[in-house]
Amino acid sequence: MTTTARPRVGIVGLGTIGSMTAWQAAARGFDVTVFESFWPGHNEGAAAGGTRMFRRVYAEGATYGPLVDEAWRMWRELEYATGEDILFRTGGLSIGPANHPVLSGGLADAQDRGLPYEILDAEALAARYPQHRLLPGELALFDPEAGVLRSNVAVAAATAEARRLGATLRLNETVLAVEDTATGARIVSENGSETFDHVVIAGGPWAQNLLPDLPLETRAIFHTWHLVNNRQLLRPERFPITLRRSGPDLSYGLMSALDGSRIKLAPHFDYARGIDDVAELDRHVRHEWQRVSIELVEKLLPGVEPGPVEAGIFPESFSPDGHAAVGPVDPSARIVVLAGFSGHGFKLAPAFGRAAVDVLETGSSALLPSEVDLHRDYRAQVSIRDLVLNSEPA
Ligand SMILES: Cc1cc2nc3c(=O)[nH]c(=O)nc-3n(C[C@H](O)[C@H](O)[C@H](O)COP(=O)(O)OP(=O)(O)OC[C@H]3O[C@@H](n4cnc5c(N)ncnc54)[C@H](O)[C@@H]3O)c2cc1C
Repeated sequence: MTTTARPRVGIVGLGTIGSMTAWQAAARGFDVTVFESFWPGHNEGAAAGGTRMFRRVYAEGATYGPLVDEAWRMWRELEYATGEDILFRTGGLSIGPANHPVLSGGLADAQDRGLPYEILDAEALAARYPQHRLLPGELALFDPEAGVLRSNVAVAAATAEARRLGATLRLNETVLAVEDTATGARIVSENGSETFDHVVIAGGPWAQNLLPDLPLETRAIFHTWHLVNNRQLLRPERFPITLRRSGPDLSYGLMSALDGSRIKLAPHFDYARGIDDVAELDRHVRHEWQRVSIELVEKLLPGVEPGPVEAGIFPESFSPDGHAAVGPVDPSARIVVLAGFSGHGFKLAPAFGRAAVDVLETGSSALLPSEVDLHRDYRAQVSIRDLVLNSEPA
């Protein structure tokens, strides 16, 4: 009897995207080896901080619909496979002036994709979610299928599943270079080198070290955690995730911390800056940054304590137009890149993992919108940040 050798894939990074790709590649019969500088679920990278938003209605555009729907299904699949609670459904609010793209884009997407939604005016919002104060002319779009993802748990669950399906983990081992050679794709690590049929680079905020020609920039994202006066509001189902765009100094992301004691606020203001080396990231939270959170809470969030009980800074890789950079480096898909998730990669991570494996097998994936094409002109495309999100995470 002859046996066919399984194709070998080396994955750089066991963070958000690497863990999901490892799970999917192992499930589809690849012989998987993952290299990770730290360990599964570590707190140094873009998955840190405990929670992430999931939005089903996607104001960024209907081209993302297949990815969003696949991610929605796959989070449940991962929960079922591992017994972990990963996606907690809280519903979601997008708040802003009625003509802001976060509302008009969301409304168009919900209608195009036949998703459930509600539009709430100030009175309806005050009755249901009194933690928000609308400004004149503002509305809220409610997405009942949005929720909070437990990010570290999600990465650990995908890692466990990959391992159960036969993946090999090489932890505390940093990859120094990835080379395309005549015999395959070679990973050069601190401990030597090894050649694979394919290599997937999912290095997150460190990706630019291995991909210096891609126009990626690592930036810091800042969060504060706050107590809530009315403890009834802390029940996650009373506290929908929220994207608010009320003006340049009045924009934020907000969600329950899911621990029954506090909420998490990501204020949007102009603090993000290029970081050449994540190891050099200054994690000291400046007092003036905390003041931004305090002022936002005082103006817009009546049920919430203004002074933060905790604050944190986390790195993320950004592309110039805010869309991820995903695809094969060349048509043989020997080296595949998933990078530059620009503050919104977590919710879609399992679907990106599945798409990466499609690319390994066939060179492309029907799940991927053209906006994320690795080989696009990054400066020609409409910026997702200008359109909807600005630079903060969601
Ligand atoms: C504070 C913050 C809040 C966010 N909020 C949201 C949100 O609400 N919703 C949402 O959808 N998205 C959100 N995002 C974005 C989302 O979390 C990221 O897009 C996603 O986590 C990126 O995943 P990644 O795999 O690219 O990076 P990571 O998860 O950081 O993974 C990269 C991994 O690669 C490893 N690595 C790198 N280089 C090497 C190497 N050379 N050798 C070995 N290992 C290596 C790293 O150690 C790391 O484990 C947020 C991001 C941040 C920072």
